[in-house]
Amino acid sequence: MNRILILLYHRILSREETLSSFKAEDRVYPLKVEEFTKQLEYLYYNKWSTLSVSQLVDHLQDKTSIPEKSVIISFDDGNQSDYTVAFPLLKRYNFKAAFFLTTDFIEKPGFLKTSQILEMSKEGMEFGTHGKSHKFLPSLEEKELKMELRDSKRELEELLEKEIKILSLPGGYNNSMIKKVAMAVGYKGICSSEFWWNDNKTDPLELKRGSLRYGDSLTYFISLVNMDKMLYFKKKLKDKSLNLLKTFLGPDKYFKFWNLYQKIIQKS
Ligand SMILES: [Zn+2]
Repeated sequence: MNRILILLYHRILSREETLSSFKAEDRVYPLKVEEFTKQLEYLYYNKWSTLSVSQLVDHLQDKTSIPEKSVIISFDDGNQSDYTVAFPLLKRYNFKAAFFLTTDFIEKPGFLKTSQILEMSKEGMEFGTHGKSHKFLPSLEEKELKMELRDSKRELEELLEKEIKILSLPGGYNNSMIKKVAMAVGYKGICSSEFWWNDNKTDPLELKRGSLRYGDSLTYFISLVNMDKMLYFKKKLKDKSLNLLKTFLGPDKYFKFWNLYQKIIQKS
């Protein structure tokens, strides 16, 4: 099987927005609309097809065929920019994407509204859950974990009047308990934030993704979607070192370090 990459996006900044209004720890993920547009243009002009996460899950489970040059676009959290910024651009290039929603955030300021979700779904966008309250799942007791996964699924199913089979993990970390509970409540696919591509050996309950961050260049994006082996191995090594550092420093000191690090690499 060919390798399939799931791209992971969060908020997309409109032309008027800058990072200065964001708290330090929230500055890692927002992407400028100019950068996002260039990435979609690249996919479009180089004839990439976009798949849904469910198509990948079916492919992994039942060996259904998928186009040779395929990529998946996914968004976490259900930010308002999914509708106002990303959706019109996706439609312009005839791309589909998967949107993972934290159901307690729906209709809250800055997040998607019910009417927007319905419109996006009608236009072929895929939806999955991202927990009920965005709690970090590995730290929950089984009972609370089950509630997060089951209630968000039920809520989104009632809203969209269709079965929801996919989930992405708030915070990105997976474990055997999460997989067990997710399967028991009826999920068929789980997206983590573990950085890698997916191939025929990938467990649909352990889908990997490649996230895009503020300041990532188009060159980086091109190497990412073309699955440049050197980039993947270097990135994995870097992520492992940063995770170790995060555990060692604790979140506050780590974010201070991360900011400083970003400033240094932006200058270099
Ligand atoms: Zn999230």
